[in-house]
Amino acid sequence: MEEIGGKFKIEGWENVQINIGKVEEEEEEWEPMGPYPMPKMADLRNWDYKLLNRYKPFYAPLCDVCALCTYGKCDLSGNKYGACGIRMDAMQGRIVLLACLVGASAHMAHGRHMIHDLEHRWGVDVPLDLGTEINVPAPLTQLITGIKPKSIRDFLPVLDYIEENIVQLADALHTGQEGSADDFESKALQMGMLDSLGKEVADMVQIAYYNMPHGESNQPFFEVGMGSIDTNKPTIIVIGHNAPPSFDIVDYLTEKGLEDEVELGGICCTSIDITRKYQKAKIASGLGRQLRVIRAGFADVIVIDEQCIRADILKQAKIVGSPVICTNDKAMHGLVDRTGDDQDEIIDDLVEGRVPGVVILDPFQVGKVAVEVARKMHPKRAKKEYILSDEAFKEYLESCTMCGSCTFACPQGLRIGGANKKALEGDLEPLIKMFDQCVGCGRCEQVCKKHIPIVDVMVKAARPVIEKEKGKMRAGRGPVRDTEIRQVGAPLVLGTIPGIIAPIGCGNYPNGTKDVYTIVDEFASRGYIVTLTGCMAIDCGFHLDDEGKSVYEKYPDDFDKGCVLNIGSCVANAHIHGAAIKVASIFARRQIRGNYDEIADYIINRVGACGVAWGAMSQKAASIATGFNRLGVPAVVGPHGVKYRRAFLGRRDLPERWKVYDTRNGEELYCEPCPEHLLVAAETIEECLPLMAKLCFRVADTSPGRMIKLTHYIDLSMKYLKIMPPDWHLYVRSETDLPLAKKEYYLQLLEEEQDWKIDWKTKKIISGPVKGVDPSFNPTLLERLLPEKR
Ligand code: SF4
Ligand code: SF4
Ligand code: SF4
Repeated sequence: MEEIGGKFKIEGWENVQINIGKVEEEEEEWEPMGPYPMPKMADLRNWDYKLLNRYKPFYAPLCDVCALCTYGKCDLSGNKYGACGIRMDAMQGRIVLLACLVGASAHMAHGRHMIHDLEHRWGVDVPLDLGTEINVPAPLTQLITGIKPKSIRDFLPVLDYIEENIVQLADALHTGQEGSADDFESKALQMGMLDSLGKEVADMVQIAYYNMPHGESNQPFFEVGMGSIDTNKPTIIVIGHNAPPSFDIVDYLTEKGLEDEVELGGICCTSIDITRKYQKAKIASGLGRQLRVIRAGFADVIVIDEQCIRADILKQAKIVGSPVICTNDKAMHGLVDRTGDDQDEIIDDLVEGRVPGVVILDPFQVGKVAVEVARKMHPKRAKKEYILSDEAFKEYLESCTMCGSCTFACPQGLRIGGANKKALEGDLEPLIKMFDQCVGCGRCEQVCKKHIPIVDVMVKAARPVIEKEKGKMRAGRGPVRDTEIRQVGAPLVLGTIPGIIAPIGCGNYPNGTKDVYTIVDEFASRGYIVTLTGCMAIDCGFHLDDEGKSVYEKYPDDFDKGCVLNIGSCVANAHIHGAAIKVASIFARRQIRGNYDEIADYIINRVGACGVAWGAMSQKAASIATGFNRLGVPAVVGPHGVKYRRAFLGRRDLPERWKVYDTRNGEELYCEPCPEHLLVAAETIEECLPLMAKLCFRVADTSPGRMIKLTHYIDLSMKYLKIMPPDWHLYVRSETDLPLAKKEYYLQLLEEEQDWKIDWKTKKIISGPVKGVDPSFNPTLLERLLPEKR
């Protein structure tokens, strides 16, 4: 038999050719397939329209002109149509889809990139073995594609599916395609779902290749904060999201026994991922402080990979004499590609300053170069002082004319001129406060006519604070274990654990990093499960309580009542979706395979969960939030989040929007408005906290559960806004829902302010509520689940 590639000819049968294609193993029938395996663009449109009819998109355009094609630019104000026929609302939906496209592509491409980089060394048959406590290893993959992965190879068709769908959705953005705002939103929701799936693949790939934690609790601690970096040692700062080059640095340090000699610190998700294996690494900060960490001059070398890296990284690094190593083709910054060159020559060129940086695209060639450059640069750089001298600081303060241009340019509106004046008078407090409030954009410096390096001035003022800024964080633990879901499934669905709070996303907080700590501490202390990922996981880690403990030291990291979990980097927040899906699958025994809308329907009606992207910034934050929304999980964004231009707001004054079916008999009922919104911005932390508590209400809450949720909602509103929430009565279905301690007082309020009828003898509500309590109520939004449709 003669072999020609994948084709075979058999002697004597010259005209016969046998082609061997992909050998498909018969897939184990682990669960019957639901109606929507690998859903395409329009397959879940009915589900999306259920959401969009209840949570109408609210648009806040940043400008009323479109200039996306040469037909325009077109004025879309006052209900005008563009030259292509598009209207403003559809155009805003289109922009949202574009943002989600960019975000989902980043997460998905990250996973694909890792496989490309690592399969050459380890192949794709690396098993995905998460141990005996996890039998649903990849809930999103199982839910969306119907595949139960056993190895990295099983994720390849998942990535193919995502890639094809992303391209199809990108096509819909072209001029002269979609014209409906709601259909753009449905496509954005599809993109958000793909984003969550891409994240799960990316995190599973790195968990499998690097044997990262498999969801075990009690993860080890490591240090976080700018003050945790020991600048007396040669220091490498890694920035980005794609960890393999940084793992090569870890390997080199370990092989050479240099772990205590060289400091490995990072900004953003790469550093979270390396600390999942190497707790000698430290995290200097989240994304929001990137500019300040670079300008503080810590780094003897900066290693970047992909996403969330400043586009002017080379310029900023040059100011402080830090060479840059780019390790990913998505961020090469005009540098020469030296992949495969002699490593000693590269080291020499960087140390001697012959080049400001290099590109090394093979992650397995990065470790030695980064470490040796740091070791050689350290003595050279240590001679210089990158933090302003006292004299220079004073000179800059004196040169400030308080013109206000910086405040005008600052997205936070920080009054830098006034703070400079105070500093000159000896009061550094305003500048120190600004150090935390600044989101590190650098706009102020560009408009200052006196050329004051404002970021350096803030770093100088805050130096004593920076040196003390040292907290503890737990290593990212990865997925939630099935055994944990068995413990908490019932209390979560019944409401006695009031909810899952999921802080996610970037670093442009309205009022500094302390807000993140407040969110985490407030909800954990009230018995919510707090699951953190990405920059918010970092930023809450360096605030300490009165006993000097960070939230990670104060609360256990089980997936249970009153716990605080660092799940991992941004891609690991797929495990928060995964936990909600597992509640439906493990606790409620719903089939998840290819059954997206039924599981999302279960979650929106029963699982009290709420995401918060308090520093919503990147396109990834947009796609993450949209992915949560399609699965029935509401999200709150901080004030900068309004720049996404779209919210999904519910209207509690329109009862017809709050109809659900009762699965027992198909009856259609009006319910209380919960969750009230799917995507909503809060202006202040005071507004955010009660709002999040409210968004954990679900129509299927039991009375004990609703009582607990109502207690926290009212309590948080009283504590932070000093008022009874104006809509609290809408969530009272019976006197059994009322917080016990003040039951009579609340009954009185209901009678006096809402005209409800109360029987004071029995202390029962006779009339008033939107709907009463029925313990066996089984709500759904899906007609296909009703008895006559089954
Ligand atoms: S895409 Fe449409 S609205 Fe935008 S510039 Fe082109 S023609 Fe005008
Ligand atoms: S722009 Fe420059 S001179 Fe003007 S207030 Fe700001 S720091 Fe001072
Ligand atoms: S760098 Fe900080 S102070 Fe300067 S404009 Fe940006 S947020 Fe404002």
